Amino acid sequence: HPTVQFEDVVFGYDPDRTILHGLSFEVPAGNRTAIVGPSGAGKSTIARLLFRFYDPGEGRILIDGQDIALVTQASLRAHIGIVPQDSVLFNETIGYNIAYGRDGATQDDILRAAQGAAILPLIERLPRGLDTEVGERGLKLSGGEKQRVAIARTLVKNPPILLLDEATSALDTGTEQAILETLRRVSENRTTLSIAHRLSTIADADEILVMDHGRIVERGSHRALLRHD
Ligand code: ADP
Ligand code: ADP
Repeated sequence: HPTVQFEDVVFGYDPDRTILHGLSFEVPAGNRTAIVGPSGAGKSTIARLLFRFYDPGEGRILIDGQDIALVTQASLRAHIGIVPQDSVLFNETIGYNIAYGRDGATQDDILRAAQGAAILPLIERLPRGLDTEVGERGLKLSGGEKQRVAIARTLVKNPPILLLDEATSALDTGTEQAILETLRRVSENRTTLSIAHRLSTIADADEILVMDHGRIVERGSHRALLRHD
């Protein structure tokens, strides 16, 4: 089974305005699929449907062949790790922020996640390490460092599916490149759906779907799509 499948999904927030017009695509197991398109195309709506914040009006969404309409939101959260655009950190320790959402994470789990997110060197330089408070009264993290904590928070759950929702679009160019490189490594051989509004940030995707006005208007590899431009 492809791991994530949208089958003829029709959806609108209001009954008189359809946002997704019969959307079909799949993310095969271990592959990276990216969705790109202008603001308002419906990309975030796809993420919200995947987490069952809303249910489709028509069509089905399947994970490992199972209709997610039959699955609880808690179970979906356990399966899907999300790296959002603006990660919110708590005014707590780095360790707390990484382990958040995963009860029973050990110190080793947390350090491994920090390593995967390439934030371990920073943590090791801090006198109090993982016990360092972040936020207003503690360590000020840069935007890129915050994103790395968010990536570690996702990795600690070891989710089979990764959802990158504009994960680098709030960062400056230099930081973005570094985080993209980390995300490339993290998503290797992991079923990944990446939402982006610029083609340049998803060059590593196995397949790119170009969306506009709630429809897939083109699909192909990065190279194939660039040839059309
Ligand atoms: P994208 O992520 O591609 O920018 P969205 O999925 O956020 O696009 O939005 C797709 C369309 O749905 C837009 O026209 C947007 O105005 C509309 N929309 C998004 N959220 C809501 C909502 N909560 N209620 C009504 N319309 C919404
Ligand atoms: P948990 O902490 O519940 O295990 P995660 O930390 O993996 O879950 O976060 C997943 C949750 O993040 C989603 O279920 C949703 O509540 C929330 N979330 C944050 N940003 C987004 C977004 N852009 N789209 C969808 N869900 C989001």
